[in-house]
Order: sequence, then structure tokens, then C-alpha cells
Amino acid sequence: MAKQRRSKRKPLPDLAFKDFFTFAQTERFLHGLAQARPDLCRLETIGYSRQGRPLYMLTITEFATGPSRDKPAYLVHGNIHATELAGTHASLMTARQLLADHGPRGRGLLSRVVFHIVPRINPDGAEFAMTTSGAIRSRTERRPLTPNTLYQEDVNADGLILTMRQKHPDGPFVKDPGDARLMIRRRGDSKPPFYRLLPEGLIFQWDGSDGIRVEGRGFDWNRNWSYDWRPEPEQGGAGDFPFSEPEMRALGKWIHARPNLFAVLGYHTGPNAILMPPSTGSLSDLDADDLRQIQDIGEIGAKHTGFPAIHVINYRFERDPTNNLRGHFHNFGYQHLGLFVYEFELGTMYNTPGISTKEIFACRKRQDEEGVIRRIMKWCDRNPRRAPKLFRSWRRFRHPQLGDVEIGGLLRKYLYNPTPAELATIARNTYKFTIDHAAKHPWLRIEDLTVEQVSAGVHRIRARVANRGELPTNVTNQGKSLARLHPVRVEFHAGEGAEVLSRQAHHELGHLEGLTGGQLMEWFVAAPPEGAVCTIHVRGGTGGNVTEVIEL
Ligand SMILES: [Zn+2]
Repeated sequence: MAKQRRSKRKPLPDLAFKDFFTFAQTERFLHGLAQARPDLCRLETIGYSRQGRPLYMLTITEFATGPSRDKPAYLVHGNIHATELAGTHASLMTARQLLADHGPRGRGLLSRVVFHIVPRINPDGAEFAMTTSGAIRSRTERRPLTPNTLYQEDVNADGLILTMRQKHPDGPFVKDPGDARLMIRRRGDSKPPFYRLLPEGLIFQWDGSDGIRVEGRGFDWNRNWSYDWRPEPEQGGAGDFPFSEPEMRALGKWIHARPNLFAVLGYHTGPNAILMPPSTGSLSDLDADDLRQIQDIGEIGAKHTGFPAIHVINYRFERDPTNNLRGHFHNFGYQHLGLFVYEFELGTMYNTPGISTKEIFACRKRQDEEGVIRRIMKWCDRNPRRAPKLFRSWRRFRHPQLGDVEIGGLLRKYLYNPTPAELATIARNTYKFTIDHAAKHPWLRIEDLTVEQVSAGVHRIRARVANRGELPTNVTNQGKSLARLHPVRVEFHAGEGAEVLSRQAHHELGHLEGLTGGQLMEWFVAAPPEGAVCTIHVRGGTGGNVTEVIEL
């Protein structure tokens, strides 16, 4: 007798929170997950970046309980913004934990829900940020170059893009008398030498004057979604038209081909917050019940993470009370997809010494900002094992255009993210939110199926079609009016030899309420004495699709 072959399962790859990942590390980790649990996890590519990197998506569900298209779907994406590398790690942590926590077959969340995880929707920008520590918003490719403008480049060939300081009589900076590593604003009583600060780079067609411009933030893909999109200059970073960026177009197309999508979560880094719609206008632009529900779910995130739940229009309020972000994810997600969508700002090193998001945005005076940076440096000095290598010493360099400069300073990729050590806890907490949020999924069922012979060769088939999930199949009231959120449709197909006697075989039920939304269905079928097979298909939109096969 042949020995029973036991498939030896590979262990899940370890997700160490030591540093952020390059593209190659991300790719290796994704393959590792898919190879470890092929029964739960598949790796696919939804498109390619401008520089040709695959846009990876993990599909995570218990495939034995049905294909992913038949289950309510939850999408997680991260790292739209180049320097926000923590978003990739938080996404990967969610993916790994979903696999690690999966319980007995057919019983856990993965038997009912499918998760789609795009950990790094901007692999080109993230690679630039990860390897050079340079700062771009989203797209690596520059707009047409402008004369007298400085563009970031690793001029001293040390692999990093840092800061250049140069002595200059009009220089607005001096060395911080309290911490020689830092530069602070020049004051009336400041002692020379005075410095000007520029990002490390080269000046395009420089005329030799002091009027050097520095390249702007460039394209911002979180202004490239379709709802309320506005061109530049009305909305900085907007792109040429909605979904003009190949990465965003790939994700947008994928989203619009998934009527089963019921929730979306995007990972970013900024002062920590659970961000909720709206991103323009006022709270009254949302349906009143939807608004309450958005806040209730947001509070679950706040409870797990300790982050404040804030509507995008109120984020940065202390700094800018008129926050209006056009073509932004939240309004797209709510207005065009009809979903409760969230963005998590996972924090930055500004939060690290214990400074709240409100305090960070309240920092208006330069002195306040300088105080914050000093606190960050002190925290790093006191926590050498948990702190990333934030500071690089100033080193002399002969710049081909500017002459003698020093290059060094703070690494932006660390400053603009939580520390990897903190992120391990943060990501565990945001995962808890995702589980709680996903557990509210709409859930279409066929229940109480009965088959009764009412006369010779005539059967009465009854079944209740119900939504036993917490959310309605329309998810939001906004979703009720949207064509993309398909209402529930019940189709009855009589097999060979059988004939439906009822006036109507198929029924449009519209959207079904959460938990209590059900309808008793009835069909009369004429069938031969034995052997006919009938099928009930329920196409439930966001609630998933269900099929019941009846043998008469
Ligand atoms: Zn962001």
C-alpha cells in the first residue's frame, strides 16, 4: 500500500518590523505567503507601473468554500504616496495575520469573505523613497524641467538623497546651538555662519543667481480618483484626467469590475488618524444615516488604535480650516462606489515622542516645529535600539554647480513614517479594525428550502432568500441609487424535462436590509417522476452569490 502523502506546508514568511521593504523584499514576501498557503492565498498582477513593475494583489479567502467572485470582498491598498512605506508593511501584516489566524475549515471569516490586498500600489515611487530617501509625492517621472529649478539627485553618490547646506550671507538657517546635528531658523541674535538649505540635487539650466527654485511635490495619485476631480492648478497633483496614472487606472478598473466589493481601506502615513469622508464640502453632503454609520465604524478603528477618527475635511484643521481635497479617495469611495471607505494615517516620527496629531497640526510657528524635531532627536538618542537611523552626519562635498557644500541631515523616509518598531503594534491594531469591519459584511443565504409534491408530477419549491450580514446589500444609502451596486436577483432554472409552471421564474428583489432582510420565494415545477434537477441562483451584489441545487 502506498504511503499516504502528507503535503508539507511551508511556514508563513516572517514579517520583521526592522526596516521598510524594497520592491524585491516585498515581492519575496508576497510569493512566500502564496506558497505557504495556496489553499487560502493567491498572488496576481492587476497591471504594471509606469516603470514596468508588477502591481501585485493578494487574494485571500478559503477557496474550498467557493470562488472569490461569489463572496463579499474587502479591499486593502497601501503606499499610493511614495514615502509612505509603512502602508506596505501594514497591508502585508494584515495579509499574513489573516492566514495565521484562519481557523477550522468552513467556519472562519475567510469562508465567507474575500480579502484583496494591494500592499504597494506605487512600487516605483516607493522604490525611489526606500532606496534614496528622497521625497516625491507619487510619480517618479518629472514634469518638463524648468530652468533654475533644483531636482533631487544623489550628487555625492552615497546612495541617498539628503539635504545640502551651504554658507551664505543671506542664509536663513544656523546650526542649532542646542543640537549641532540640526539646523534652525536664523533669528535676530543668531551668530554666523548662516546657511541656505537645499535638497540634494542639481539645478536645471542654472543662471548662477540665488533665485533657485526647488521642484514641487509633483503628481499626487490620491487626487486622481474620479469624483469631483479638478485639474491643476485648482487641485495640485491632480494629473491630466481622472485615472490618468496607469497604477490608478489599473486599480480603478479592477474596482469597477467587482460588484461584490463592500469595503475599502487605504493605508497612508501622516500624523496618526482614522480618516473618514467627506474630503470636500461639508458633513451634510452625506446621507445622515450613512454619516452616523461611517462614524460608528470609524470609532471601532479609534478604539483599537488610539488614533482620533477624523473626517478628511477636518484633518489638518488647526493648520488649514479649509481642507478641500478634490479627486480624493474618500469622496470617490462614498459617492461613486457607495461604500464606507477609510484611510488610516499610520503616524509619522512626529507622533513618536508622544506628540498628538492635534498638537502637530497646531505647530504654526517655526520655533514649535524646531522643538518637535529636537524632541524626535532626543527620543532617538534615548531609544537607540528602537530608533531608525534618522540622522546622517554632514559631510563636505564639492558640488559641480554650487561649489563647497555639506550633505547630510534627516532621512525623510524615516521622518515621514512611524518607526518600524512602533508599526508592529500599530499594524496589529489596524488589523483588528479590518476584522471587525469585515465581519459586518452583507451575506446572502438561501434558507428553509422545502420541496413538496402537490399533485402528480407537480412540485412546490419554497426557499427564503435573506441577507444575514449586518450591512445591507446596498452598504450605504448612497449605494441604493448607484447602478454599480447590483441589487439582489434570484434566478430559477428548471433542468432537463422539468418546466416552471409559475408565471415568473426569475425575480428582482432589490436591495436587502442587513440581518432581517429576507423574502420567501415559491415556484411550481412540473417534473417527470424522478431525476429532474433545478437550480436557484442568487446574485447578491455585495452580499455574494449563492447557488442551491435541488434534485426532484
Ligand atoms: Zn498618503
